[in-house]
Amino acid sequence: MKLALSKIKELIEASKDHQCDPYDCCVQLVGIADLPSQFGEFQICAFVSPCDGKEHTAIVKGDIVEKENVLTRIHSECLTGDVMGSKRCDCRDQLLESLKLIQKEGEGVLLYLRQEGRNIGLTEKIRAYALQDQGYDTVEANLLLGWEPDERDYGVAAHILRSLHIKSIRLLTNNPDKLWQLSNHGVVIKERVPLIIPTTEYNRTYLETKARKSGHLLGDKADMRDVKEVLAHSHKS
Ligand SMILES: [Zn+2]
Ligand SMILES: [Zn+2]
Repeated sequence: MKLALSKIKELIEASKDHQCDPYDCCVQLVGIADLPSQFGEFQICAFVSPCDGKEHTAIVKGDIVEKENVLTRIHSECLTGDVMGSKRCDCRDQLLESLKLIQKEGEGVLLYLRQEGRNIGLTEKIRAYALQDQGYDTVEANLLLGWEPDERDYGVAAHILRSLHIKSIRLLTNNPDKLWQLSNHGVVIKERVPLIIPTTEYNRTYLETKARKSGHLLGDKADMRDVKEVLAHSHKS
Protein backbone atom coordinates (compact mmCIF):
# COMPACT_ATOMS: atom_id res chain seq x y z
CA MET A 1 0.00 0.00 0.00
CA LYS A 2 1.39 3.38 -0.99
CA LEU A 3 0.29 6.76 -2.28
CA ALA A 4 -1.21 6.23 -5.74
CA LEU A 5 0.04 8.25 -8.69
CA SER A 6 -3.33 10.00 -9.10
CA LYS A 7 -3.24 11.12 -5.46
CA ILE A 8 0.38 12.28 -5.77
CA LYS A 9 -0.55 14.41 -8.79
CA GLU A 10 -3.47 15.89 -6.87
CA LEU A 11 -1.31 16.74 -3.85
CA ILE A 12 1.39 18.39 -5.95
CA GLU A 13 -1.15 20.28 -8.03
CA ALA A 14 -2.79 21.61 -4.85
CA SER A 15 0.61 22.78 -3.61
CA LYS A 16 1.51 24.64 -6.81
CA ASP A 17 1.46 28.40 -6.32
CA HIS A 18 0.35 27.74 -2.76
CA GLN A 19 1.10 30.56 -0.41
CA CYS A 20 -0.40 31.05 2.99
CA ASP A 21 -0.83 33.91 5.32
CA PRO A 22 1.04 34.31 7.62
CA TYR A 23 3.86 33.38 5.29
CA ASP A 24 6.50 32.66 7.95
CA CYS A 25 6.46 28.87 7.80
CA CYS A 26 4.89 28.05 4.43
CA VAL A 27 5.98 24.98 2.46
CA GLN A 28 5.20 23.63 -0.99
CA LEU A 29 5.15 19.95 -1.95
CA VAL A 30 7.13 19.55 -5.17
CA GLY A 31 7.69 15.82 -5.71
CA ILE A 32 7.06 12.30 -4.41
CA ALA A 33 9.08 9.21 -5.34
CA ASP A 34 9.49 5.61 -4.17
CA LEU A 35 12.18 5.06 -1.55
CA PRO A 36 13.01 1.41 -0.96
CA SER A 37 15.34 1.24 2.04
CA GLN A 38 16.96 -1.30 4.35
CA PHE A 39 13.92 -0.80 6.62
CA GLY A 40 11.26 -1.43 3.98
CA GLU A 41 9.35 0.20 1.15
CA PHE A 42 8.72 3.90 1.67
CA GLN A 43 7.98 6.98 -0.41
CA ILE A 44 9.82 10.27 -0.04
CA CYS A 45 8.06 13.62 -0.39
CA ALA A 46 10.10 16.74 -1.16
CA PHE A 47 9.01 20.09 0.20
CA VAL A 48 10.54 23.50 -0.36
CA SER A 49 10.03 26.32 2.03
CA PRO A 50 9.97 29.68 0.27
CA CYS A 51 10.50 31.26 3.71
CA ASP A 52 13.58 29.51 5.10
CA GLY A 53 14.83 28.43 1.64
CA LYS A 54 15.33 24.88 2.92
CA GLU A 55 14.45 21.52 1.40
CA HIS A 56 12.50 19.43 3.91
CA THR A 57 11.39 15.85 3.34
CA ALA A 58 8.75 13.46 4.60
CA ILE A 59 9.33 9.69 4.48
CA VAL A 60 5.93 8.09 4.10
CA LYS A 61 4.72 4.52 4.58
CA GLY A 62 1.27 3.62 3.24
CA ASP A 63 -1.52 5.93 2.13
CA ILE A 64 -1.66 8.43 4.98
CA VAL A 65 -3.81 11.03 3.19
CA GLU A 66 -6.96 11.94 5.16
CA LYS A 67 -6.01 9.40 7.87
CA GLU A 68 -6.44 9.67 11.64
CA ASN A 69 -3.91 8.54 14.29
CA VAL A 70 -0.97 8.39 11.89
CA LEU A 71 2.23 7.23 13.64
CA THR A 72 4.51 10.24 13.20
CA ARG A 73 8.11 11.10 13.97
CA ILE A 74 9.42 14.62 13.52
CA HIS A 75 13.19 14.43 13.21
CA SER A 76 15.57 17.37 13.00
CA GLU A 77 18.65 16.93 10.86
CA CYS A 78 21.87 15.94 12.65
CA LEU A 79 24.78 15.43 10.25
CA THR A 80 27.16 14.18 12.93
CA GLY A 81 24.66 11.70 14.38
CA ASP A 82 22.48 10.67 11.40
CA VAL A 83 25.31 10.33 8.88
CA MET A 84 28.57 9.97 10.82
CA GLY A 85 27.16 7.84 13.64
CA SER A 86 28.32 10.21 16.38
CA LYS A 87 27.83 8.91 19.91
CA ARG A 88 27.45 12.41 21.36
CA CYS A 89 23.68 12.33 20.80
CA ASP A 90 20.86 9.86 20.24
CA CYS A 91 19.64 11.30 16.91
CA ARG A 92 20.65 8.38 14.69
CA ASP A 93 19.24 5.82 17.14
CA GLN A 94 15.96 7.75 17.24
CA LEU A 95 15.88 8.07 13.44
CA LEU A 96 16.47 4.36 12.80
CA GLU A 97 14.16 3.22 15.60
CA SER A 98 11.38 5.45 14.22
CA LEU A 99 11.74 4.05 10.71
CA LYS A 100 11.62 0.51 12.13
CA LEU A 101 8.48 1.30 14.15
CA ILE A 102 6.75 2.89 11.15
CA GLN A 103 7.65 -0.11 8.99
CA LYS A 104 6.29 -2.46 11.68
CA GLU A 105 3.07 -0.43 11.91
CA GLY A 106 2.72 -0.59 8.12
CA GLU A 107 1.71 3.07 7.99
CA GLY A 108 3.21 6.32 9.18
CA VAL A 109 5.36 9.31 8.38
CA LEU A 110 8.77 10.64 9.38
CA LEU A 111 9.47 14.31 8.74
CA TYR A 112 13.12 15.13 8.22
CA LEU A 113 13.45 18.81 9.04
CA ARG A 114 16.52 20.77 8.06
CA GLN A 115 17.15 22.37 11.40
CA GLU A 116 20.63 21.13 12.21
CA GLY A 117 21.97 21.45 15.73
CA ARG A 118 18.62 22.37 17.27
CA ASN A 119 18.47 24.95 14.48
CA ILE A 120 21.70 26.82 15.23
CA GLY A 121 23.42 25.27 12.19
CA LEU A 122 26.28 22.83 11.80
CA THR A 123 29.23 25.14 12.48
CA GLU A 124 27.62 26.61 15.59
CA LYS A 125 26.81 23.11 16.81
CA ILE A 126 30.45 22.14 16.45
CA ARG A 127 31.49 25.27 18.37
CA ALA A 128 29.02 24.21 21.08
CA TYR A 129 30.57 20.71 21.09
CA ALA A 130 33.97 22.33 21.66
CA LEU A 131 32.56 24.10 24.72
CA GLN A 132 31.04 20.82 25.93
CA ASP A 133 34.50 19.27 25.62
CA GLN A 134 35.58 21.86 28.20
CA GLY A 135 32.89 20.72 30.63
CA TYR A 136 29.80 22.80 29.79
CA ASP A 137 26.52 20.95 29.24
CA THR A 138 24.45 21.29 26.05
CA VAL A 139 22.25 24.07 27.44
CA GLU A 140 25.15 26.11 28.90
CA ALA A 141 27.16 25.80 25.67
CA ASN A 142 24.30 27.18 23.55
CA LEU A 143 23.73 30.07 25.95
CA LEU A 144 27.45 30.95 25.92
CA LEU A 145 27.30 31.24 22.12
CA GLY A 146 24.30 33.55 22.32
CA TRP A 147 21.66 31.01 21.31
CA GLU A 148 18.61 29.67 23.09
CA PRO A 149 19.04 26.11 24.41
CA ASP A 150 16.69 24.98 21.63
CA GLU A 151 15.98 27.15 18.57
CA ARG A 152 13.84 24.59 16.76
CA ASP A 153 10.49 25.60 15.32
CA TYR A 154 7.78 23.13 14.38
CA GLY A 155 5.59 25.44 12.28
CA VAL A 156 7.02 23.94 9.09
CA ALA A 157 6.32 20.43 10.44
CA ALA A 158 2.69 21.33 11.13
CA HIS A 159 2.38 22.70 7.59
CA ILE A 160 3.88 19.55 6.04
CA LEU A 161 1.35 17.39 7.93
CA ARG A 162 -1.39 19.72 6.66
CA SER A 163 -0.08 19.52 3.08
CA LEU A 164 -0.32 15.71 3.31
CA HIS A 165 -3.89 16.05 4.68
CA ILE A 166 -3.06 14.02 7.79
CA LYS A 167 -5.99 14.50 10.19
CA SER A 168 -4.44 13.44 13.51
CA ILE A 169 -1.23 11.87 14.73
CA ARG A 170 0.32 9.63 17.36
CA LEU A 171 3.62 11.33 17.97
CA LEU A 172 6.84 9.45 18.63
CA THR A 173 8.61 11.79 21.02
CA ASN A 174 9.99 12.41 24.49
CA ASN A 175 10.01 16.17 23.98
CA PRO A 176 7.16 18.13 25.63
CA ASP A 177 8.11 21.30 23.72
CA LYS A 178 7.36 19.52 20.45
CA LEU A 179 3.93 18.48 21.76
CA TRP A 180 2.79 21.96 22.63
CA GLN A 181 4.39 23.72 19.65
CA LEU A 182 2.65 21.35 17.24
CA SER A 183 -0.58 21.65 19.15
CA ASN A 184 -0.36 25.45 19.00
CA HIS A 185 0.12 25.12 15.23
CA GLY A 186 -3.15 23.20 15.01
CA VAL A 187 -1.89 19.61 14.85
CA VAL A 188 -4.24 17.13 16.53
CA ILE A 189 -2.12 14.80 18.71
CA LYS A 190 -4.06 11.76 19.87
CA GLU A 191 -1.24 10.06 21.76
CA ARG A 192 2.42 10.40 22.70
CA VAL A 193 4.44 7.30 21.88
CA PRO A 194 7.73 7.22 23.84
CA LEU A 195 10.95 6.60 21.94
CA ILE A 196 13.29 4.75 24.25
CA ILE A 197 17.00 4.79 23.40
CA PRO A 198 19.49 2.94 25.61
CA THR A 199 21.93 5.14 27.53
CA THR A 200 25.64 4.74 26.77
CA GLU A 201 28.71 6.20 28.45
CA TYR A 202 28.91 8.83 25.67
CA ASN A 203 25.31 10.06 25.57
CA ARG A 204 24.57 9.76 29.31
CA THR A 205 25.22 13.44 30.16
CA TYR A 206 23.42 14.56 27.00
CA LEU A 207 20.30 12.52 27.87
CA GLU A 208 20.39 13.56 31.53
CA THR A 209 20.56 17.24 30.52
CA LYS A 210 17.61 16.69 28.19
CA ALA A 211 15.59 15.29 31.09
CA ARG A 212 16.76 17.74 33.76
CA LYS A 213 16.89 21.03 31.84
CA SER A 214 14.54 20.54 28.88
CA GLY A 215 11.88 18.48 30.66
CA HIS A 216 12.18 15.50 28.33
CA LEU A 217 9.99 12.56 29.31
CA LEU A 218 12.33 9.59 29.33
CA GLY A 219 9.94 6.99 30.76
CA ASP A 220 8.27 4.37 28.60
CA LYS A 221 4.69 5.23 29.53
CA ALA A 222 2.50 5.79 26.44
CA ASP A 223 -0.84 7.45 26.94
CA MET A 224 -2.77 10.69 26.61
CA ARG A 225 -2.15 11.82 30.19
CA ASP A 226 1.24 13.33 29.48
CA VAL A 227 0.01 15.03 26.31
CA LYS A 228 -2.80 16.67 28.30
CA GLU A 229 -0.42 17.47 31.15
CA VAL A 230 2.09 19.20 28.87
CA LEU A 231 -0.62 21.20 27.12
CA ALA A 232 -2.24 22.19 30.44
CA HIS A 233 1.07 23.50 31.78
CA SER A 234 1.89 25.37 28.62
CA HIS A 235 1.38 29.08 29.19
CA LYS A 236 1.66 29.64 25.46
CA SER A 237 -1.28 27.41 24.52
ZN1 LIG B 1 1.49 27.58 3.23
ZN1 LIG C 1 22.37 14.59 17.02
